[in-house]
Amino acid sequence: MIPGARLIILGRQGAGKGTQCVRLSRHYVVPHISTGDMLRAAAREGTELGLTAKKIMDDGGLVGDEIMIGLVDERLDKADADTRGYILDGFPRTVAQAQALDRITAEKPINVVIDLDVPREIVVERLSSRRVCRDCGTNYTATGNERSPWICDVCGGDVTQRADDHPDAVNRRLDLYESQTAPLIEYYREQGMLAVVSGVGQPEHVFRRLTDTVEAWR
Ligand code: ADP
Ligand code: ZN
Repeated sequence: MIPGARLIILGRQGAGKGTQCVRLSRHYVVPHISTGDMLRAAAREGTELGLTAKKIMDDGGLVGDEIMIGLVDERLDKADADTRGYILDGFPRTVAQAQALDRITAEKPINVVIDLDVPREIVVERLSSRRVCRDCGTNYTATGNERSPWICDVCGGDVTQRADDHPDAVNRRLDLYESQTAPLIEYYREQGMLAVVSGVGQPEHVFRRLTDTVEAWR
């Protein structure tokens, strides 16, 4: 196995991007760059960007293109991403972001864009039972039998429901995905860069499908 890869993972909220990207980043020894995680970290730190972003995120909206493009441009310029590669999760989310990314990656192009495909009915179910560690970001599935407070097995942090996983925000985010982000699937297909991988089934199987796909493209 040769480390290094430059990948974009698209997919609906709840498709399992976060979980799979963590595994892919270990497998290829490249940073997992999640714009959602970056914004949540900024919100926790209370930076100006973080505070602006938090309001938008909590209600399921999208942070402005210009802010997001600046953030990602700066991150991809860092030594780890620049030399080894990266897995981009949550960006691009609009056509304007994709066009900016084309410019940013002109010299070191993306290997493949993967659409991690899970039908809307299934992701709605997954999101409503999703719980997340506030400190390390580990995902859990609520069954209704948890003790409260719920403590993270990995780091001892608080496991809670994200504000944007409440039903109204979930529907808003999925509508935004269909209108703003789904067009990117066509955008990358036209450029011959797209692979569609089913995200349905056990995480190990999905992971296998993803690495097989990356190997075929890299
Ligand atoms: P999800 O994909 O489940 O919505 P993320 O963690 O990827 O979760 O993102 C959380 C929130 O962060 C988004 O709903 C949005 O408000 C904001 N966000 C993340 N990435 C972007 C982006 N590329 N453009 C605009 N907003 C973004
Ligand atoms: Zn934790």
